[in-house]
Amino acid sequence: MKIGGLQKLTLIDYPGKLACTVFLSGCNFRCSWCYSPELVLPEKIEGQPEVKRDVFFDFLEKRKGKIEGVVICGGEPLINEDLLQFAKKIKEKGFSVKVDTNGSRPEMLKALLKGKLLDYIAMDLKVPLNRYQEISRKKGEAEKIKESIEVVMGSGVDYEFRTTLVPEIHKKKDVSLMAEAIKGAEIYFLQNFFPEKTLEESFLARKPFTKKELEDFKKVAEPFVKKCKIR
Ligand code: SF4
Repeated sequence: MKIGGLQKLTLIDYPGKLACTVFLSGCNFRCSWCYSPELVLPEKIEGQPEVKRDVFFDFLEKRKGKIEGVVICGGEPLINEDLLQFAKKIKEKGFSVKVDTNGSRPEMLKALLKGKLLDYIAMDLKVPLNRYQEISRKKGEAEKIKESIEVVMGSGVDYEFRTTLVPEIHKKKDVSLMAEAIKGAEIYFLQNFFPEKTLEESFLARKPFTKKELEDFKKVAEPFVKKCKIR
């Protein structure tokens, strides 16, 4: 595991809690619109300074009583086998743990839940289940995503599903299929794409959706979930 970044305070990434965010390097997907190429592409990861684990845990120790939670995100944090020990140590220090995941590692998700190491799960739906081969070279990814959806919804911990909507990638039909895949979910966030930094440079030229287009996507998703919000 390599800690590729640390945001010492976030008021928005952990619903209802003051938190810090720890960014773990490495990802098994290649979403062209990804905002964090420095945490995904091996050649860029190499050039990223590492936050040593001791430094991170010393920081946490000093934040006791000041922040309540730790957001573990990436990259894809669940590809790290040592995530279990890492999350355990955070919990032992008295912090709540939120994990952000692309849903490709249901086994790790189950192990974390079994260890009572998670308090909040945010799972991305990137594309409809039948299109995951566009962002992953591995076969059978859709089955893993489907399994993770079931694990998340049955976990008993707070959760959200979310999708970053990208022009030319997502159409109404795609939003409908994604919402259907999480039918009955507590909450589904739709997020607009912002072309500031992307894995594939050509995506920087794409214009975000308009407010009206986002509202239309929301109308498509709403019937499938308990709450759908634009964020
Ligand atoms: S958007 Fe998320 S899942 Fe996709 S490449 Fe970036 S870090 Fe990985």
